[in-house]
Amino acid sequence: MRLLIVEDEKELRRSILEYFNNSGVDCESAIDYESALDKFELYDYDCILLDLNLPGGSGLDLLRILKRQKPDSAVIIVSANDSLDQKLQGLDWGADDYLTKPFHLSELSARINSVLRRKSGSGSNRLVFEDLVIELSEMVVYVKDEEVNLTKKEFDILLYLVHNKNKVITKVALAEHIWGEYADSSYSYDYLYSHIKNLRKKLVDAGSTDHIKTVYGVGYKFKA
Ligand code: CA
Repeated sequence: MRLLIVEDEKELRRSILEYFNNSGVDCESAIDYESALDKFELYDYDCILLDLNLPGGSGLDLLRILKRQKPDSAVIIVSANDSLDQKLQGLDWGADDYLTKPFHLSELSARINSVLRRKSGSGSNRLVFEDLVIELSEMVVYVKDEEVNLTKKEFDILLYLVHNKNKVITKVALAEHIWGEYADSSYSYDYLYSHIKNLRKKLVDAGSTDHIKTVYGVGYKFKA
């Protein structure tokens, strides 16, 4: 994936670049109107993050030029709180989404994934949850574009928890979901415990937030 960040605020630009480059995304930046225009003409990007107030010109003008040259470009407007009118104008002119500063980088990442998913038309086969991407048809989980090697049981547990995010799922319900209603309880709870332990470790080792919380004496919760 190739990203372009058009942003003149140095710290923000630096943190976005660092975040995506560290997760293996090819990410470039432009610091003003002119250099953004040069990059649009020279290269193709999978997604462009566009600030609206730029030295040398307006991001909205850039958007119009870009959409004329490359109508399929994915664009997310990233701008300050006080420019709602401009953001709506941007959507009108073909931007795919907008994000208000300040924002979490994980939120930005989720928005990018969502825009790209919509563009590629594969929306129904993929679940995105912050830094986690679950490809349902391939039964593969990605953290920051890296595949996480899960067993079938771990995958099933993760999917069940994500589908029920922010709800407490009892051990009983989870064990029954995984092994069916005839699961021997004490035996399957031990298995469940070790599957969840391994699943959490694999996701955290891959760089994901530890979303799976233990609710003592009850079960588990996948926390947003
Ligand atoms: Ca700016």
